[in-house]
Amino acid sequence: AKRIVLAQRPQGTPTLDCFRFETVDLPPLEDSQVLVKTLYLSVDPYMRGRMNDVKSYVPPYRLNEPITGGAVCEIVESKAEHLRPGDVVLTQTGWQTHAVVPGAKVQKLQPAPEPLTLALGLLGMTGLTAYFGLIDVCDPKPGETVVVSGAAGAVGMVVGQIAKILGCRAVGIAGSDEKVRFLTEELGFDAAVNYKSPTFAEDLKQACADGIDVYFDNVGGTVSDEVLKRINEFARISLCGQIALYNLDKPDVGPRPGPLLLTRKAKMQGFIVGDYAPRFPEGLQKLQTWFNEGRLKSRETVIEGFDQTIDAFLGLFTGVNTGKLVVKVS
Ligand code: NDP
Repeated sequence: AKRIVLAQRPQGTPTLDCFRFETVDLPPLEDSQVLVKTLYLSVDPYMRGRMNDVKSYVPPYRLNEPITGGAVCEIVESKAEHLRPGDVVLTQTGWQTHAVVPGAKVQKLQPAPEPLTLALGLLGMTGLTAYFGLIDVCDPKPGETVVVSGAAGAVGMVVGQIAKILGCRAVGIAGSDEKVRFLTEELGFDAAVNYKSPTFAEDLKQACADGIDVYFDNVGGTVSDEVLKRINEFARISLCGQIALYNLDKPDVGPRPGPLLLTRKAKMQGFIVGDYAPRFPEGLQKLQTWFNEGRLKSRETVIEGFDQTIDAFLGLFTGVNTGKLVVKVS
């Protein structure tokens, strides 16, 4: 089996030498274990946080151990009663071509979604993040203006589409004109703006003529500074991600939002999707229904080849992806 381990902890932006490819022999199966072959693996921004040796909501990756995370795998061999060779499963085996894992730690995809990559995106972790982070944390009402940053990414594209389903006005912020067109022309966002444009502040103001009632923040940093200037009274802000800050080696001091939040009586709340695990069936059922009805669309960027995994991951920080970024392994 081939796998990628964390060779050293990144300082700032991760570099290739933070990782190492290894080839290992897998142990024979013990009772209740399965041998899986990775079909698709997920690269996610949260993985950057786990590369730091700090206390967080999940333990840090260990040095010289594989980078774990979501993957869609096929069972090759099974000593677990409920799993058969050929079954397609969701695992946390991450950046490995094959792995031996307890059968109880894999989840059979029954039926397997078409395409399979949906299980890592719209009908998986990132779709659920959009669902609970928008509906539960922000409580959007019909007619309100919902702004989402990182809008053309895995979580963001779903947030804006759910906002539309709920009768809100959806405004996306993304990093290229092509992504802006994708949001408005393909996903039905009411407006979208490019934060890299010199006219970003003015464009955002025009796109949110009635102010901003809900802000779903995937990126933080200067993009969010600009959004917060335009929030309405009683705005709800969910902190989903802060990707603009993940690679900083020193804390960043921007405009402090306290006075704005205070005077506009706004509420800002962080959340972690894993805390909603007991309600995942509810979320998945809703997402699946909207997807079947054609009201939720998915986009994926699929990078071919296990050897491309590190480049794919680093590409999250330069915006190579539109929609969910996955690596096709076999
Ligand atoms: P995306 O698919 O959105 O990929 C990341 C995107 O971030 C890139 O495509 C890029 O798009 C954008 N980006 C990168 N650097 C910057 C920057 N400096 N400023 C602004 N935008 C930037 O990833 P996900 O949808 O998987 O995750 C989105 C966010 O949600 C992340 O911050 C992640 O950590 C968080 N998250 C949180 C969860 C939770 O439970 N709270 C669960 C899952 C994800 P562009 O071209 O537009 O710059």
